[in-house]
Amino acid sequence: MPTVLIKPNAKKKQYGKVVHLSAIEPPVWLALLAKRYPSSRIIDMEAENMDEGDLIKALSAIDVERCVILATGSHPSAHIQQTEAAEKVKAAVSSLGNVPVEIFDHLPFNPVEMGAIDWALLPLEKYRAHNWHAWGRKDKTYGATFASISCPFTCEFCCVKDFYKSSYQQRAPELVVEDIRSAVRRGVTNFKMMDELFAVDNKGVHAVCDLLAASGLGKEINIWAYARIDTVNALLLKKLRAAGVCWLAYGIESGNEEIRRSIVKGKFDNQKIRDVIQMTKDADINIVGNYMFGFWDDTQATMRETLDFAKELNCEYANLYCVTVYKGSKLYDDMKARGVDLPERGDEFAQMSPAFKPVPTKYLSGRDVLRLRDAAFNEYFGNEAYLSMMCARFGKPVVEEIRSMLSINIREKV
Ligand code: SF4
Repeated sequence: MPTVLIKPNAKKKQYGKVVHLSAIEPPVWLALLAKRYPSSRIIDMEAENMDEGDLIKALSAIDVERCVILATGSHPSAHIQQTEAAEKVKAAVSSLGNVPVEIFDHLPFNPVEMGAIDWALLPLEKYRAHNWHAWGRKDKTYGATFASISCPFTCEFCCVKDFYKSSYQQRAPELVVEDIRSAVRRGVTNFKMMDELFAVDNKGVHAVCDLLAASGLGKEINIWAYARIDTVNALLLKKLRAAGVCWLAYGIESGNEEIRRSIVKGKFDNQKIRDVIQMTKDADINIVGNYMFGFWDDTQATMRETLDFAKELNCEYANLYCVTVYKGSKLYDDMKARGVDLPERGDEFAQMSPAFKPVPTKYLSGRDVLRLRDAAFNEYFGNEAYLSMMCARFGKPVVEEIRSMLSINIREKV
């Protein structure tokens, strides 16, 4: 009798009207957890687009010994949204009577000690890359792997260490290559490197890059990964590109240097950011610039600086987020001490959900922050300098896709 491991489906609530643009990512942690159960199978409700009724039908057809739900994505924000979905699934499974259900709301294992991913456990053909990640590619297939857990840095709005209950640890490079090679054999070419921070100039990352380049996989695949302005250099970027890293996501956060300094990430100035962005473009790597609106000291003027800086850097994609405050971060404690009303429900954390609850700054209401963020999104992606750069890099169909993305009104209510 199998143990059934379940990934709940929180997608629709999380992404609302832009659900079709979001990625469907393989639940790598669930696939690793499955190794603990000798006879097990996975039901990925998100990939199968299942609701609780569909799940009960599927479970009724199997002689289930027990169900295990991992209420977490690869990131703390996904974790919060998955927790509610997991409780709904647990309640539904209880209707089957005698099937025990266990929910893990944290990783009950150390991922670096679990060996390679067994892709046969997952419906690989059902996963889909982010729209931007697959720009210029023939396929939207999607796989994921990781070379490390947690992060060597400490930023005050971040709670990754709380999530992993671990400091930075690296995995054997050979396992990373094995995960990618076996997924490529099954037709996958786009990959997420799940590391909170992959592009660090250290021995482990160089080893992963060297192995991917030497194996020839680097020429076939399209990896996206997180980097920091102060962790890359020209040699590392060259190696990353040869390893198949075609997209790097940098946390630039704010265009205002003082605000960046106030959140710890500001050991570099705007000129250093310009230089690293140029160096990354020179290495032929596309860039996702991550910017945040609504830090405690943000005003309308400083958020304008952030948007102007984003437009100047003109990265191939930009995530323009409102600041969100998660339990476990120093920012959470600070905001609580200030008496700020913080989001609690999963959909209140989801930036693309109509229920999203933005946090205020010292000077502006949460609603004002959200309005400025939404206006920034339209200005960035509608900017002619951006669209002509994108046309030259990816061609007209991608420009058309961006224009249609702009036509979606995700927040009629605001
Ligand atoms: S570098 Fe990124 S992952 Fe690491 S602590 Fe800062 S925000 Fe978190």
